[in-house]
Amino acid sequence: MLTIDVISVQPQMLRGFLEESIVARAVKKGACEIRIRNLRDYAHDRWRKVDDKPYGGGPGMLMMCAPWFEAVEDCTKDSPSEGRRIIMTSPAGRRFDQRMAEELSHERHIVFMCGHYEGFDARIRTLATDEVSIGDYVMTGGEIAAAAMADAVVRLLPGVLGGGAAATANESFGRGGMLEAPQYTHPPVFRGMAVPEILLSGDHARIEAWRKAESCRLTESVRPDLAARPCAANETTRS
Ligand code: SAM
Repeated sequence: MLTIDVISVQPQMLRGFLEESIVARAVKKGACEIRIRNLRDYAHDRWRKVDDKPYGGGPGMLMMCAPWFEAVEDCTKDSPSEGRRIIMTSPAGRRFDQRMAEELSHERHIVFMCGHYEGFDARIRTLATDEVSIGDYVMTGGEIAAAAMADAVVRLLPGVLGGGAAATANESFGRGGMLEAPQYTHPPVFRGMAVPEILLSGDHARIEAWRKAESCRLTESVRPDLAARPCAANETTRS
């Protein structure tokens, strides 16, 4: 079973999300365990202070070493390093993507470190196995990043989504690495917009070919960086 620890100065912000979402469902099904920790419980003074001014000057405050070292050591004291990832959330990290979500879904223990203020004292990085960003923008804290990553990982765990492995294999960034083709449900015509005839035909081979072609068309149009050779192979199914 996967254990996820999230360390934050705003644990209440995470509780709402992690205790309501697909993650909560996964916990109920016994697919994972979530432990939310308050970094301030590891502070050394009665004000529960975890930040201080940066050496050399500069705006804002930085997170201090001691509370972080003690919090991470506490989370990891009973878990072997094999199968364990300690993820420092940071805009300057490796970009999170579906491949990394897959990779993490095979681990046994993930610790998410949520930064705040101007970020971490650089020595805190030595605790992490990975420094990870969820995109090229700066947020106020790492909680939303940790929640987004936890959600993307947990939905890949066996038994969490109905439909098994197929439910995620054919999604965007799934098996083919491309965006998902457009999907439709009832009614067949809504405000003059009709569902493509082929999807109503019952011809599964043609539907599959149509979906591949649409997936290529969409990927080439909005994410040409993802579309490469797999689309060329489908060239003939498009017309
Ligand atoms: N001074 C830092 C910099 O320029 O890289 C930004 C610090 S940011 C205001 C505070 C914290 O929010 C970070 O330490 C990190 O934990 C989190 N954070 C902000 N943007 C993020 C992103 N794109 N991905 C992951 N975490 C992020």
